[in-house]
Amino acid sequence: MKAAVVRDFTAPLAIEDRPLPEPAPHQVLVRIEASGLCHTDIHAARGDWPVRPTPPFVPGHEGVGVVERAGDLVRHVGLGQRVAIPWLADACGHCDHCVSGWETLCLQQHNSGYSVDGAYAEYALAHGDYVVPVPDGIDPMDAAPLSCAGVTTYKAVKVADSGPGTRVLVSGIGGLGHLALQYARLAGAETIAVDVTDEKLALARDLGADHVLDARIQDVPAETQKLGGADAAIALAVSNDSFRAAYAALRRGGTLVLVALPAGGTLEIPVFDTVLNGTKVVGSIVGTRQDLAEVFRLHELGRTRVIRETRRLEDVNDCFEDVLAGRVTARLVFDLR
Ligand code: NAD
Ligand code: ZN
Ligand code: ZN
Repeated sequence: MKAAVVRDFTAPLAIEDRPLPEPAPHQVLVRIEASGLCHTDIHAARGDWPVRPTPPFVPGHEGVGVVERAGDLVRHVGLGQRVAIPWLADACGHCDHCVSGWETLCLQQHNSGYSVDGAYAEYALAHGDYVVPVPDGIDPMDAAPLSCAGVTTYKAVKVADSGPGTRVLVSGIGGLGHLALQYARLAGAETIAVDVTDEKLALARDLGADHVLDARIQDVPAETQKLGGADAAIALAVSNDSFRAAYAALRRGGTLVLVALPAGGTLEIPVFDTVLNGTKVVGSIVGTRQDLAEVFRLHELGRTRVIRETRRLEDVNDCFEDVLAGRVTARLVFDLR
């Protein structure tokens, strides 16, 4: 099978022919149809984060495909079923996080395309209990971005406590942000979209943002404060400056939800203001299997639009450059059919 492999953090990915993997008793072998390119895959391939994956590895955690083989212990999915392989490859299933609806915080989790091989390949192995069924009505090319960009921002909007009458700022209208904006609108919030490219600002308008700010030429905190400040700001741009701006755009009692993970990302905040303003700063990491099932259901009901372009896996290195240069509409998806 064909796979895109990271051999070295400083080298381009290599397209390799690998033997078809054998599913263990608890695993399924998935024939990948669609595999989304999340900015996280670029961080993974470059070793950007304090905990690094070990090369060689296959990135990709927005994998969607059909179960072709299943181990003897797999009970919840059947052959021929379309499933998603998300970031949470598996968790222990028993710790306090796992049993209280926070499996994404499990200390013993594995992550697709990071600590275990992911979906930048014609086939991928996955844990039978942690793949999420994709409803028949959903195009696999849409299901792929929903499996990380969708579920992550759906969760972030929940964590932000967005609701009718709240004002939510979405910083970065890329793969994640274009969906965050839609979930915030579905929650009933007034929305402020922030980006730094004309195309993304146009996309935000098209998706119905109530206010659109260009961080290149506008003072995001000042413009947001003119509106009364943001009850929540969801930080999705790969930029420390954007975190500072999102923090300063909050109104009293507001919540900054950190999602983006720039290399060496830091945010220094003034204690005095944070205390006096009752500001909350919270990190948000992907979402659970249940969150993803809800994301798929919303899409099946026609409530969300996935803005994506399809590419060939062979072009993965050019695709990384395009994402870094802001040259993509929102999400790139490898078509492996
Ligand atoms: P992306 O490249 O598709 O989107 C980033 C967007 O931010 C782009 O539209 C870009 O133009 C915009 N931007 C850049 N500088 C900006 C600025 N100063 N102000 C406002 N906008 C700006 O990336 P993505 O795939 O959406 O991922 C975003 C980040 O989220 C990455 O760091 C990724 O690793 C991280 N991520 C986190 C989680 C999680 O669970 N916490 C999950 C998935 C991705
Ligand atoms: Zn991702
Ligand atoms: Zn656990």
